[in-house]
Amino acid sequence: MSAGTVIIGASHAGVTCAAALREAGYTDRILLVSEEEGIPCHRPPLSKGYMTGAVSADSLPLKSASFYQEDNIDLLTGVKVTAVNPGQKNVVLSNGKIVSYNYLVLATGSKPRPWHGADLPEHVYTLRTVQDASNIARRAASLSGAVVVIGGGYVGLELAATLRTHFKKEVHIVEMAPRLLRRAASAELSEYVAELHKKAGNFLHLSCPVKAINAGHKTTIDVVLHDDTVINAEMVILGTGIVPEQTLAGEAGLACQDGIVVDKFCKTSDEFIFAIGDCSRFPVAHHAQTLRLECVQNAMDQARVAASVIVGEAKEYAAVPWFWSDQLGVKFQTAGIIEDGMTCVVRGEKSSGKYALFHFYSNGRLGAVETINQPALHMLARRLLAAEISPDMQQAGDVQFDLKGLIGK
Ligand SMILES: Cc1cc2nc3c(=O)[nH]c(=O)nc-3n(C[C@H](O)[C@H](O)[C@H](O)COP(=O)(O)OP(=O)(O)OC[C@H]3O[C@@H](n4cnc5c(N)ncnc54)[C@H](O)[C@@H]3O)c2cc1C
Repeated sequence: MSAGTVIIGASHAGVTCAAALREAGYTDRILLVSEEEGIPCHRPPLSKGYMTGAVSADSLPLKSASFYQEDNIDLLTGVKVTAVNPGQKNVVLSNGKIVSYNYLVLATGSKPRPWHGADLPEHVYTLRTVQDASNIARRAASLSGAVVVIGGGYVGLELAATLRTHFKKEVHIVEMAPRLLRRAASAELSEYVAELHKKAGNFLHLSCPVKAINAGHKTTIDVVLHDDTVINAEMVILGTGIVPEQTLAGEAGLACQDGIVVDKFCKTSDEFIFAIGDCSRFPVAHHAQTLRLECVQNAMDQARVAASVIVGEAKEYAAVPWFWSDQLGVKFQTAGIIEDGMTCVVRGEKSSGKYALFHFYSNGRLGAVETINQPALHMLARRLLAAEISPDMQQAGDVQFDLKGLIGK
């Protein structure tokens, strides 16, 4: 069997890459291989609307089933790629077939970080797939006791919010760092999010590494904190982050370093193999360090870059990273990359629930903007960052100052 392009992983990155190839006029065979069963689905609603029923299962697919037929994309689901052989330019499938390729795209994403320690008791969950979300919702609907969410990152917090407001549970958020969202948000935003959760009735346990998760009495679970405090729960969610799925790449001899290393064209250390989305580590303009991002924007933008190279119209990856989170009735959006040591300027009144945090590098250049219930300002921030236009700090903090006026000047 052969295909012009084989794409491993059919999620935000893989599906977008296949679609972008066809949009760009690519006519060779595209084989999209997915280890997951069923039609590829959006992940963001799984911790948000899908959990509450506001988003139905019908609206989860990334593309309709007819899309794959009409665009002549061979979608193979429930099949894993078990090996990549760059020398022979082929891949081995779990059904025993070998498929040769001209180009290979690794869109293998990420997987929940494995829990250290002993076997976990029943009713400890991670959230990545539609099945995981359904299992969590079913359990939440049937239990009467507390829930412990381990990890104060975005996915854990979104779940904690839903479990509190929709399922009316007693929720404990246990985080080993001294603040929530340590990796993804500024300290100023973390503080606001923590206040919201406390106001909603969630219990926060910060600077609290979890020592053990043990089976308790009957179906309960004992979550043992670093100081031997025990929280008794009927469900535990592991929101302890993800790790890039780079096994195939590593075994194939491709350069990997907490992610599959790629250049600005999403090319790996093999010129015929690309890596895109959560699994890739890539260079970013103005940053000395390479980055690995875990968001839909990055998955989709990198997919388009890889497709552009395959069709011979190479475009560099130069997108401004952005992502969003919805929790407790608030929309949080971030454009750019938050780094330690930035100067934060507040625009608007925090007490109004609609404001923004502008983050500047030490040289006065705007680096990132976090908006709270300000979608129009988020869009404007993305335009400013993309055009490398910086307001000064005084302008950023003055709600009367017309930031839009800076564009085009
Ligand atoms: C609950 C949840 C909520 C989220 N909310 C947001 C949000 O609000 N905003 C945002 O920007 N991002 C959000 N994210 C993150 C976003 O979903 C990810 O960044 C995005 O899914 C990355 O897409 P991807 O295609 O790179 O990888 P993935 O979505 O991880 O998909 C990779 C696919 O490859 C498959 N695969 C791996 N290895 C093989 C193999 N050997 N053979 C075949 N198939 C293989 C996997 O099974 C998987 O289906 C959320 C994620 C989750 C889980």
